[in-house]
Amino acid sequence: MGHSCRICGKTKSNESFSGKGHKNHICKKCSQWPKGEIEAIDQQEEIGKFLLGSREGRLLNI
Ligand SMILES: [Zn+2]
Repeated sequence: MGHSCRICGKTKSNESFSGKGHKNHICKKCSQWPKGEIEAIDQQEEIGKFLLGSREGRLLNI
């Protein structure tokens, strides 16, 4: 049981998430990071998804 933090990627207990962090899937530890850092990680995630999606799209076209 527990929730995975989307920043550190670790599965942590409910106690490791504050009310707001719980909703955002960011643990208390990661929620202490500067907002800019979290946004940078979010952007990397989006880029990763985009690259993965485009690669899968290419495979389907073969
Ligand atoms: Zn975390």
